[in-house]
Amino acid sequence: MSSGVFEFRCLSANIDELMAHEKKRIVIVGGGFGGLFTALDLTGAGDVTLISDEDHFLFAPMLYEYLSGEVEAWHIAPQYKELLDENVNLVQDKVAGIDLERRSVTFETGREQLPYDVLVLAVGGVTNYAGVEGAAQFSLPFRKIAHADALRQRMVEALDAVPPDLPPQDVRSALTFAIVGAGASGAELSTKMADLLRDAFERRALPGEPRILLIEMGDKVVPGMGDEIRAFVENALQESRVELHTLTRVLRVSENSVTVEHNGAQTEIKTAGVVWTGGVLMNPLIQSLKADKTERGLLRVNRTLQLMGHTEVFALGDIAFFPDATPTLAGTAQLALQEARLTARNVKSFIVGEPLHTKHFEELGEAVSLGTERAAVLAGGKVFGGPLARQARFAMYTARLPTWHHRLRVGASWFLGGTTPRPLLPLGIQR
Ligand SMILES: Cc1cc2nc3c(=O)[nH]c(=O)nc-3n(C[C@H](O)[C@H](O)[C@H](O)COP(=O)(O)OP(=O)(O)OC[C@H]3O[C@@H](n4cnc5c(N)ncnc54)[C@H](O)[C@@H]3O)c2cc1C
Repeated sequence: MSSGVFEFRCLSANIDELMAHEKKRIVIVGGGFGGLFTALDLTGAGDVTLISDEDHFLFAPMLYEYLSGEVEAWHIAPQYKELLDENVNLVQDKVAGIDLERRSVTFETGREQLPYDVLVLAVGGVTNYAGVEGAAQFSLPFRKIAHADALRQRMVEALDAVPPDLPPQDVRSALTFAIVGAGASGAELSTKMADLLRDAFERRALPGEPRILLIEMGDKVVPGMGDEIRAFVENALQESRVELHTLTRVLRVSENSVTVEHNGAQTEIKTAGVVWTGGVLMNPLIQSLKADKTERGLLRVNRTLQLMGHTEVFALGDIAFFPDATPTLAGTAQLALQEARLTARNVKSFIVGEPLHTKHFEELGEAVSLGTERAAVLAGGKVFGGPLARQARFAMYTARLPTWHHRLRVGASWFLGGTTPRPLLPLGIQR
């Protein structure tokens, strides 16, 4: 080899190294709606790293359909490595702390800290048990695939434990489930569970019927939604024979009961399971972050989604208070998704020193799943319900899944394979 060629190779290797150093280190913490969609839009814009404590994204609005078996895990919880190309570094670990001054993140496992030039925070919320005695220990949360698996198993175990000759009232008592919180999540979950359990009663020829309690502190279901869609929800609760208890406070949860208070009277109800959908609490990582926050602990960001006082840090989704969003959008996937687009655009502008952008975020419509056969959808100012709304919801959500490739695969699977619920068969013969 002539020395000229050798020198050229060395020089080009040095340039590559230099370019790699010059690429801005963009670290995204959280791989949900905010984080994943930002990462997808930032591919190739720098040295991008996505950190998540899970190995998969979760399309949470369809977690109810995963519980019922209408959809499969790969449909709504695809692995990050299937969605992101090799230009994005993936780190599966839990971030334990962020040093805003030194610009680095530390990990729970003790892995070497990761420095950044630009940080995107999108870690979402955690279940809020509101300090209710026994709630964190004994009730089931419903935010992740593992939670849905645990709840499904609990329902099957409760069904399997019923002896064949038990009188109907005892069967009903053994198959009582309470869902705490009648927001959209509680309404969707209770109708889904009621339909699934009733189907299991028929298949197993059990006497009587299951008892599903929906417990709400306020005076109405889905308080954040309009009256028209609420009417559909109330109707579905009745059809699925969900017992709605409004103005009722949960005082205590134990291994096999829930104690409630209504009009000053306390009642302890025997339960096979209590599911907590009663609210969202700030992520502990954000709680520990020294930054400007609202009274509820949300990070205050400016209209470009940058953290107050730290222009190199962007925050979005459930952890951020964005000043120019329709109030009903707070804490929704719709908002996180729209903010992700703006975040990616602004990170790119920030890196090259161009002016940043802002946007007003609006409601894109509402959709609630109501049992295994119907839904209610608000689109274009009109509400419609029933099986058609269920189909429309599936179509709407297919369009919002990440990446074209995944959307096509899932759409084809739903269209060709169908979306029939998977019955709660006895443990030995689960498929
Ligand atoms: C069951 C359910 C149903 C819902 N239905 C709807 C609906 O129908 N419509 C709607 O608009 N919204 C719905 N939502 C709300 C919606 O899912 C959230 O608003 C949205 O996911 C917020 O996006 P995010 O990116 O802020 O957080 P998330 O999507 O929650 O993502 C946060 C990510 O960060 C990861 N993470 C958390 N802490 C750490 C850490 N310390 N280190 C590393 N990674 C971490 C998490 O594992 C997760 O991957 C629903 C939520 C749930 C739970």
